[in-house]
Amino acid sequence: MNTTSFDDLGLSAPLLRALAGEGYTVPTPIQAQAVPHVLDGRDLFGCAQTGTGKTAAFALPLIERMLAKPGKPGPRRCRTLVLAPTRELAGQIHQSFLAYGRHAGIKAAVIYGGVGQQSQANAMLHGVDVLVATPGRLLDLIGQRLVDIRSVEFFVLDEADRMLDMGFIHDMRKIVAMLPTERQTLFFSATLPAEVRQLANSMLRDPLEVKTTPQATPAETVSQSVYFVPKGEKRAMLVKILREQSQGRVIVFTRTKHGADKLHRDLDKAGIPAAAIHGNKSQNQRERALAAFKSPRPPVLIATDIAARGIDVDHVSHVVNFELPHEPETYVHRIGRTGRAGQTGEAVSFCDHEERPRLKAIEKLLRRTIPHSGTLPDMPEADVEAQPRQERGRRRRGGRTGGGQPAGGRTRADRNRENRKPQRENRKPQREAPQPEREAPQPQGAAPTATLVRKIVRKHRRAL
Ligand code: AMP
Repeated sequence: MNTTSFDDLGLSAPLLRALAGEGYTVPTPIQAQAVPHVLDGRDLFGCAQTGTGKTAAFALPLIERMLAKPGKPGPRRCRTLVLAPTRELAGQIHQSFLAYGRHAGIKAAVIYGGVGQQSQANAMLHGVDVLVATPGRLLDLIGQRLVDIRSVEFFVLDEADRMLDMGFIHDMRKIVAMLPTERQTLFFSATLPAEVRQLANSMLRDPLEVKTTPQATPAETVSQSVYFVPKGEKRAMLVKILREQSQGRVIVFTRTKHGADKLHRDLDKAGIPAAAIHGNKSQNQRERALAAFKSPRPPVLIATDIAARGIDVDHVSHVVNFELPHEPETYVHRIGRTGRAGQTGEAVSFCDHEERPRLKAIEKLLRRTIPHSGTLPDMPEADVEAQPRQERGRRRRGGRTGGGQPAGGRTRADRNRENRKPQRENRKPQREAPQPEREAPQPQGAAPTATLVRKIVRKHRRAL
């Protein structure tokens, strides 16, 4: 694609002015690919992660389409409906429409759960051009006849894979069934498992497929490294890293809400300013945490995957995977929080014994080895199989720290996933077979944190 400027994409003056105000000069690849076709009225099937500029890739041409065909939405109606899985993402998409549509007189509203519905219903009273919504609250308001989606002209489904993960499939189908069949649909997903393709096929007509990067390829601007740390020592290791790395904006990922809260308390005790964000936090708490994280002196943000999905903060310098995720694709999403918009970032992962199979799955997906460093002091890598069977079993069953999430608040999808994966790991123990100890290669360009962590590992081992 030779497009080098937004003018070439066929956008009109009010949008170009807004883009100049945002400081955007060159379209990102997904914008260059998608905008002309959406302007032509085609359906779109986009495989793109957050951080690629996909929001503007759908918002810009849809605003343009609405300008080209002026129309007033009826009371409680909208012309464009955008569905997003989380409140954070919905809020950000809403903000993007307001920013890009600033000189075009675009009216937009956002609705999501966890807060009172009155102001959302009020915002819809006279109709809006764009409604951004999470599925549950949207259905609630439709049920109360406070929102009417029967005249939607443009429909966007964002982060379809995450919608499925979060168990929104039935809500999504109900919503789509209420939409007019004559509409333009844009469908986005960061990954393309078979269920996502099926869902896309059921709602798109002759779509143009655009892919920004091959599936699950992290940005080249992110340098990755993995450190072998016994489970019980991850906290101490994290505290040391954070103390040394007091500058920058750091997100630490935990797998569970419980784990995020516990880590938050530990960092508090260690005197490290931190904030946690996860599904059990109220909307106010989440907004406060995000505002603090965006401030010039950000606390460390501890996040679970679902809560972090919509976080759109530039200049995240480090992502720490305190625990490795079960799904390898999630690793790619996590590290995509850093190294955005051409800036460099570092992703550091802690891996204990039980997480080895997950690390292997991640490396398989990436089709490369992540530079490894350190060994587990209590159990060198090459000795895993030499452990007495009883001891291995005990380790695998695990303590509280790494796995146990309270049942409350988990989605069905979460529970299924958690029940499923460990079984799969156990069924094929040979996949966990130890690798010969590797020379710890220097992560390319990962120098500061990588070197720092290696130093800490060495110091730590001496202290044992
Ligand atoms: P998204 O993938 O939509 O979440 O966008 C990721 C980030 O890139 C956001 O902070 C946008 O403001 C920013 N962005 C989007 N398009 C451009 C562009 N053409 N030039 C510079 N930044 C952009």
